[in-house]
Amino acid sequence: MDQTRFTPDLDLDGLSPNEAFAILGNEIRLEIIRVLWRADAAHEYDDGSDTANTMSYSGLQNEVDIDDNGKFNYHLSQLAPHFIRRTDDGYRLSGAGKQIARTVIAVSGTDRLDFSTEIEDDCPLCGAHVEATYEDQWLRIRCTECDGLFGDQAPTGTLFLTSYPAAGMTTRNPDQALATGLYRCALDITYMMYGICRECAGHISSSVTVCEAHENHRGEPCATCGTPFSVWADMRCDTCGFAKRLPVEMFATGLAMATGLIDNQELDIHSPSFEEAVSLLQSSVETTVSKGPLRASITIEGETSTFTITLDDDMNVVDLDRRLQSETAPS
Ligand SMILES: [Zn+2]
Ligand SMILES: [Zn+2]
Ligand SMILES: [Zn+2]
Repeated sequence: MDQTRFTPDLDLDGLSPNEAFAILGNEIRLEIIRVLWRADAAHEYDDGSDTANTMSYSGLQNEVDIDDNGKFNYHLSQLAPHFIRRTDDGYRLSGAGKQIARTVIAVSGTDRLDFSTEIEDDCPLCGAHVEATYEDQWLRIRCTECDGLFGDQAPTGTLFLTSYPAAGMTTRNPDQALATGLYRCALDITYMMYGICRECAGHISSSVTVCEAHENHRGEPCATCGTPFSVWADMRCDTCGFAKRLPVEMFATGLAMATGLIDNQELDIHSPSFEEAVSLLQSSVETTVSKGPLRASITIEGETSTFTITLDDDMNVVDLDRRLQSETAPS
């Protein structure tokens, strides 16, 4: 058989998550990764014969500041070949090593990034003031008066909630961060609807739950399920556990926003505003549920076209119907 691997000389199989945690759970090894990252000892691809910037053995040992050769060697050997690569010229990070470095950078910020600020939009549910907060690497929009959109599934008053790495906050003001958070969330949802995890490329499993006795009196969450929405979906990565639990309407509108399914000239897909997203969800979305087998159909009315996305109980898109506003609906 032809050898088509980038790294034909390396045996990279068989490192379990537990083994990876064990290898990385050591200060010296993380320091080796940090030093290589800072030295730009990376490479675009993980091919064996690269010309990347590398660090010499002695240069690396010097920077990591370990005098004991045996000890330094041992830790290097633990990291290779999965996280670092030895080449004829020295050492560099592998693809996995770079990902570790990028993850550490993404979650580390500067001293203080948390904020709480009132934003211009009013609550789409009750008209009260709305606040944006950033806390513990979560970005949240909350109403200062009402229960919000998620009932008891999120902290009281929540209108939007997404994880947001600290590094992406250092160069953005709160308004820009909100637009970025919304867009990232729409992209996460889109990947999930295609069955792919954005964190690890793993397979997404889904399940749908329906509140059988759902009641939604103006603004009040349903007494049975505690939320204003009757159909919720759980989408979870089988491999890394990355998950979202949201009303099916939010999965459908997230997909619509990120893929431009709705032909709305007003909606700038690169920075949808919170107001646009919520007003779309609130005034232009209609959901119907049918049983045996379960089907949830979400109709979204855009500026020039209307489309209906029909989902089964595994969140597969079983039907997508799109028509221009001028066309008549089938009888
Ligand atoms: Zn409110
Ligand atoms: Zn209910
Ligand atoms: Zn995953």
